[in-house]
Amino acid sequence: MNTLGRDVRLVDHDGTDVVLRDSELLGRQTSHRNSHRHPAGTVARPGEPCPACRWFEVEIYRHRDGYALVTVGKTQVIGEVDRLRVRTATSPYEVVELLTQHFDDGRLPRLPRASALALSRAAEHDDGIRDAYVNRAVA
Ligand SMILES: [Zn+2]
Repeated sequence: MNTLGRDVRLVDHDGTDVVLRDSELLGRQTSHRNSHRHPAGTVARPGEPCPACRWFEVEIYRHRDGYALVTVGKTQVIGEVDRLRVRTATSPYEVVELLTQHFDDGRLPRLPRASALALSRAAEHDDGIRDAYVNRAVA
């Protein structure tokens, strides 16, 4: 998994080129599942959750200038496109915060399952991430 010193080049969905210098992949996870939640032979309707039609992939990198999160909203629904997003963080606490979902309707912030798994894997390879993960304030 460790690929120390690699330059990773990415294009964010808004068209921005991002280069992560001397980067190392610390952890990754997908929320993809093989079974659909709707009848066979159909695809998820707009807004309908189905982890076999639409899912989320997250990668956590350490690089020369800090950390980076690469998240991709993946889709197999015709007419929809994958959305890749790159966000950089200067501290491991910021990594945890960027992975935390916040809601406007009063629900408590939460760490999605795939993000928590990617973080737990990154914690094996980075002491700062381990500390931020262990001491996180969200479930
Ligand atoms: Zn589906």
